[in-house]
Amino acid sequence: MRCISISKPIGTNQPPLRPFLSGPDSAPQDSEIQTKKTVLHVGIDDTDSPRKGCTTYIAAVLVQKLLELGCCFIDYPNLVRLNPNVPWKTRGNGAICLRFKCEKSNIELAVKTIVRVVKQNSDLAHARADPAIAYLKGNIPVELAIFSKKTIRGLVTVREAEKVAARHGVSGVTIKGKKGFVGALAALGEQLRSDHTYELIAYRLQRNTLRPRNIDSESVFRMNNETAPLTFNNLDPETNRILITPRGRDPILYGIRGETPSAVLQAHKIVKVNEEIERWVIFRTNHGTDDHYSRVSKVSDIHPNQPAVVLGRILRKPFTIPGGHVIFQLGDDSAVVDCAAYEPTGNFRNIVRKLVEGDMIEAYGGIRRSSSTHPRTLNLEKIRVVSLAPCFIYENPRCPKCHKRMESAGKGQGFRCRKCRVNARTASKALVPIERDLSLGVYVPPPRANRHLTKPILRYGQERNDSRVCLTEPWHWP
Ligand SMILES: [Zn+2]
Repeated sequence: MRCISISKPIGTNQPPLRPFLSGPDSAPQDSEIQTKKTVLHVGIDDTDSPRKGCTTYIAAVLVQKLLELGCCFIDYPNLVRLNPNVPWKTRGNGAICLRFKCEKSNIELAVKTIVRVVKQNSDLAHARADPAIAYLKGNIPVELAIFSKKTIRGLVTVREAEKVAARHGVSGVTIKGKKGFVGALAALGEQLRSDHTYELIAYRLQRNTLRPRNIDSESVFRMNNETAPLTFNNLDPETNRILITPRGRDPILYGIRGETPSAVLQAHKIVKVNEEIERWVIFRTNHGTDDHYSRVSKVSDIHPNQPAVVLGRILRKPFTIPGGHVIFQLGDDSAVVDCAAYEPTGNFRNIVRKLVEGDMIEAYGGIRRSSSTHPRTLNLEKIRVVSLAPCFIYENPRCPKCHKRMESAGKGQGFRCRKCRVNARTASKALVPIERDLSLGVYVPPPRANRHLTKPILRYGQERNDSRVCLTEPWHWP
């Protein structure tokens, strides 16, 4: 295995990558390729456990192994985040897919290699890890793409996955149970044809994974200054915390998210670390795209475990409960739901506290099932303030002579101005409109509290719907 340190120039020993353009409408042009090579899509999921492992690392190793077999990638490795609200997920619920062309005579060897690497790098001893591989030759059928979206936005069963796979000739390899097959199939079917982003992930040497990550924080701040907003979620502006490094024992040293492959690569070159990087790979992903939300037309249509966007009116103004969580009630003609902005969402709660009864908002979040102690709750991941209700306060009437506010003359006695010696016995308090300290628009919690899939404010206006992929830039270092 070849290792590099970050101080070496990157890409100088890059294995020659044939420039190749792939996309939904661009079939391979080369007739020789078409006859001898087959496109293979390989989805992999559920290799890790809460204590160790990382499915993206397996993808990074496989990139190297498959290139050595002469395979030719037609897309960046895809990192597909699935529904973050499924009850049985491990950590980020991310599955991966590798899409490449392979000599027909080499397909069996490629699949054997993939199975071997997945077995070697999965936490098979842990009950939560249930590795599975799904692979398909040729094009992705529409039904499979629909299945993938359902897996990102809702719940699907293993049985459902098996039926879809059988209808379209998808092969599966499971090592323990079948649970991981759902994610593997979903990653295979999700071609990231709508909005997508990139993440460059750098991996640690195995022997370092128990040690604290050794990263030059000043270089991360510099990287953020020089590359944002083409990179995002590098830092948390509220706390100045560095967000590119995970906290667990997994093999990831850091992950840099961005809009283009060149942006994350440039950022990677700026970041300095004081430990050896085993390898890095750029993934194409649905991170930061809001891909997990289903828009529902009424409050009664929201369901547990299905992240939703719903328009409603504030029916009970926000209040803070012990622990610093802020709760309010949102509703429409169909139903009412509690919405919660939890303590970790930081200053986002200060925005939420400014809402009053009658305001219209779109609430984005996952839904927690009601229990004996808690009603059904929408856990807020962001809000869009659509309209503000007029707000009034009662104020004493003004003096007709000096125009200052008069004071009360006593109960039932009206108002008076001492200076002008004016009495207004029949006057009453006036309803005065007040200006709201809240603007219309989208509000997102600070990056440290965001889910992988939640679109950060920095990305608004940068969305893309072009899935054409150009692999001419360096994108991996095996
Ligand atoms: Zn007066």
